[in-house]
Amino acid sequence: MRIKTNRKNLDEYLKQFDMLTVLSQMGIDAVNEFLGSPKKDFACIKCMFHEEITGSFVIDLKHNTFKCFGCGITGDLIDLIMLYTDYDPTPLGDNSFDFFEAIRWLEHAKEAE
Ligand SMILES: [Zn+2]
Repeated sequence: MRIKTNRKNLDEYLKQFDMLTVLSQMGIDAVNEFLGSPKKDFACIKCMFHEEITGSFVIDLKHNTFKCFGCGITGDLIDLIMLYTDYDPTPLGDNSFDFFEAIRWLEHAKEAE
């Protein structure tokens, strides 16, 4: 599959994925709470990039983006995979992923569903 890597196409491509599903495929599924009920537009989990007791990692479920209000890390689905494998590659592979490896992993995870 060929993807033009401009921002608009990338956002369009990423719409097919659900960040919570991707997180559980990454071995992370501890949702603390859903915020913004009853529409459940946001989910809050414990941040995987810093130690914390209560969750401050907020996922915008509608836009597939995240922001941690504890350590300030932020980004989209691709950033999440790249940052996560940079932080701790062992759950997904042996090394940190670049952009294309992150896309490849997403495609693979989608097929495995
Ligand atoms: Zn954090």
